[in-house]
Amino acid sequence: MDVVDALMKNSALTDDQYLELLRTNDPTLRSKLFAAAQEAITYLFHRKVYLQGVLDFTNHCPRNCFYCDLRAENSDLKRFRLNWEQIRGACREAFKLGIRTFVLQSGEDQYYTDMIMGNLLSTLKQEFPECAVELALGERTKGSYNRMFKSGADRYLLRFETADPLHFSRLHPPSFALSTKIDCLNDLKTIGYELDTGFIVGAPYEMPEYLARDLTLLQELSPDCISLAPFLPREGTTFRHQMPCNLETFLRLIAILRVMFPKANIVASPLLDKVHVQGQVMAVLSGANVLRVTMTVPPMPGEPRRTYAQRSLLRKLQSLYSSLQSHEYEMVVDRGDSLTRKKNVLA
Ligand code: SF4
Repeated sequence: MDVVDALMKNSALTDDQYLELLRTNDPTLRSKLFAAAQEAITYLFHRKVYLQGVLDFTNHCPRNCFYCDLRAENSDLKRFRLNWEQIRGACREAFKLGIRTFVLQSGEDQYYTDMIMGNLLSTLKQEFPECAVELALGERTKGSYNRMFKSGADRYLLRFETADPLHFSRLHPPSFALSTKIDCLNDLKTIGYELDTGFIVGAPYEMPEYLARDLTLLQELSPDCISLAPFLPREGTTFRHQMPCNLETFLRLIAILRVMFPKANIVASPLLDKVHVQGQVMAVLSGANVLRVTMTVPPMPGEPRRTYAQRSLLRKLQSLYSSLQSHEYEMVVDRGDSLTRKKNVLA
């Protein structure tokens, strides 16, 4: 039995076995891994891909993570906050395009209190009852997560970034702790959110051993959705001169995750297209079943009828549709709740 057989059988491997899969130059073993991932996605998802819209509704953040351009010390970044009408307008536009999951993402901006978020969530759920709302607001208290869940949030995205405490400490200032993130993830799960988590791939100081630990931590957390982030060097950050994520490693991780978690949603990040022009499609071919695209805010009075961002979103969707179709995948209009919650799904 080789490592791919072992992964299919046990849904988990030892650190050494993960390393073997991540490092192998054996084309037969590599092909077998990707074929196993394709088989899982074909069997369980019938090659259907869910589309989700991501809206960055504020870029204010008091934190200073070394890899992130939203960090408070990045004084070159032009800061913004969207108001209710802009957020609702973006959701309306997305809905018209067939998007049934809105991912509302921000830095840890204290301006958006539980009360503001609660009112926003109730309004969105009233206007779009058939849509799922996923929040990505960072670390908050269990009480805060609870209030937002009761107001209608369905899912929460919080990456642990890296499972290795030393690596974590090299990517974050001392005020941030891996254990706090894990506590938050456990709180989210207990409350009943669909849990979406993952780690950064290709971050500075990363070692293959750390990736093996990331996979093991994911196994323990047993998420409903997995969102890996490809590392990209960003202006205004400590790591602006570092190399971006290696695409092959990223795709191999997606394939490993699909075999480990056949029923989970796995996201093809829009950032992948900055690593390779077909990055998102390649992630789907490796086992991802969720495509995220950036939502756009409707034009303000006096702006052109279609903004540049709206035109590029339409072009992007057209290109994704035709690329997926040529590989016999189908992009569907569906909120795409995780199969991990459905009891009658074979796996
Ligand atoms: S990673 Fe999140 S918490 Fe850290 S600086 Fe960026 S937005 Fe803020």
